[in-house]
Amino acid sequence: MPILLFADHDNQTLADQTARTLTAAQAIGGEIDILVAGQNARAVAEAAGRLTGVRRVLIAESEALAERLAEPTAALIVSLAGDYDTIIAPAGSAGKSVLPRVAALLDVMQVSEAIEVVAPDTFKRPIYAGNAVQTVQATDATKVVTVRTAAFAPAASGDQAAPIIEAGAGEGADKSRFVENRFAASDRPELASAKIVVSGGRALGSEEKFRETILPLADKMGAAVGASRAAVDAGYAPNDWQVGQTGKVVAPDLYVACGISGAIQHLAGMKDAKVIVAINKDADAPIFQVADYGLVGDLFELVPELERAL
Ligand code: FAD
Repeated sequence: MPILLFADHDNQTLADQTARTLTAAQAIGGEIDILVAGQNARAVAEAAGRLTGVRRVLIAESEALAERLAEPTAALIVSLAGDYDTIIAPAGSAGKSVLPRVAALLDVMQVSEAIEVVAPDTFKRPIYAGNAVQTVQATDATKVVTVRTAAFAPAASGDQAAPIIEAGAGEGADKSRFVENRFAASDRPELASAKIVVSGGRALGSEEKFRETILPLADKMGAAVGASRAAVDAGYAPNDWQVGQTGKVVAPDLYVACGISGAIQHLAGMKDAKVIVAINKDADAPIFQVADYGLVGDLFELVPELERAL
C-alpha cells in the first residue's frame, strides 16, 4: 500500500515535522515516497532521502511551487495520487492549506490531525478541543490524512540515500499568486517545536509588562514564548505566540504558564507537555488541575525571582 508523504520545508531545511509524519506513515505500513515540492530544494530532497524507511523522494521544482501555494501543489499531488493508497502530511500550515484541496479534488474525505494510527485505514483524532478522542475509519480508496506531529516521535536519519526522482511541476499556478512572507525576526526557538515554552496570560496586563516579565525568564531558559488568547486579543503578545485550540498545539518537555487560568481552549494546546508548571495567584485556577508543579502567588514577584534563581 504505497504512501505519499508531502514534506514540510522552507526550500533549505527539511522540517522536523516531516520525520514525525514519517513515523505515522510507517505505522500505516507500506512503501513510503516523500514528495518535496518547492524551488531550489535539492538539499531538502537529499535530507528526506536519508530518513530511514523511505523508498524514494519525488522532487517537483518550479516558481509556482516555491511557497507551496495550495492550487499548484494540490494539482501536483492529485496528478501523482493514482499511484498511492494514502497521502499524508504534517498538520502544519502547508499541510492544512494543501491537503483539504487534494481531498476535495479526489472527492474523498480527509482525516485531520491524526494522533494515532489504529489500522491502515483507521485513526484516532482529537475533537471538542481535545476533550474527546474520536476513532475514524476512512473507507475511500485514497486516504488523505494530516498528522498532529507532536503525537509522533521523529523517524531517524541514516547514511542511506533513497533515489531522488523528478516529478513534474503541477498546474494551476495562475489561480493564486505569492505576495510576500513576513517573518518576525527572533533568536528564540520556534514555538511549535521548542523543548521549553514560557507562556503568559491576561494577568500580565500590558504588552510592556508581558515583555518585561515573561521574556527574561524565557531567554534565561532558552525557551520559546507562548501566550493565551486573552493576552493576544488584548495586544500583549503577537498572534503567532497563541497556544491553544485556535493557536498552536505544543508538546514541549516543559511548559511554564504564568497568569493563565487554564481554560479548556488553552489546555487543548499544551496539556500534552511532559511537565507543566503553573504560576497563578488563584489556588483554585483550573490550570493547577493539569500542572505537575504549582506556585500560588503573584507572578510579578515569582517570575523575576525564578529568573534570578536560575
Ligand atoms: P483569564 O482566564 O482571565 O485568566 C487570568 C489568570 O491570571 C487568572 O487565573 C488569575 O487568577 C491569574 N492572575 C491574575 N493576576 C495574577 C497575578 N498578578 N499573578 C498570578 N496570577 C494572576 N484561549 C487560549 O488561550 N488559546 C486558544 O487557542 C483559545 N481558543 C479559543 C477558541 C474559542 C472558540 C473560544 C470560545 C475561546 C478560546 N480561547 C482560547 C479563550 C479561552 O476560553 C480563555 O478565555 C483564555 O484562555 C483565557 O486566557 P487567560 O487564562 O490568559 O485569562
